[in-house]
Amino acid sequence: MAVSAKAREGQHRRGATYREKHKEEVLKRNAIYREDNREELRIKEKAFYQDNKEKVKKAANKYHRQMKERLFTHYSNGVPKCARCGITDLDILCIDHVNGGGHQHRLRIGITSGYKFYLWLIREGYPDGFQVLCFNCNIKKRMTEGL
Ligand SMILES: [Zn+2]
Repeated sequence: MAVSAKAREGQHRRGATYREKHKEEVLKRNAIYREDNREELRIKEKAFYQDNKEKVKKAANKYHRQMKERLFTHYSNGVPKCARCGITDLDILCIDHVNGGGHQHRLRIGITSGYKFYLWLIREGYPDGFQVLCFNCNIKKRMTEGL
């Protein structure tokens, strides 16, 4: 028997209200369910990824880009751009340690990829001492100033 859209809407709303009222209980039950079905869920997730590879990748890329935009907007005080030459192509912009020592710093905090470093900066509340540079200016800075 087909369920009318109205009935479905009602079910949905009641479900949401129930979940809101019993939040702790629901979270606990979900955690237990995940624990009990760990292997099965892992296989399901893997299958979902296999079936939706492109979609999943696209969504991840979109998310990364939004994050990068947010971070670079902060460090550029507006439109993301290189602090030296002013280029605004987000694809070639990177975060530079103003006083150098970026490599050592990343090693110290155990960060290996650019993406993880961006996450770290956001988590740390956008610490001072960083600026946006393009790859060219970044390399040039390293060559000419040793930073
Ligand atoms: Zn530049």
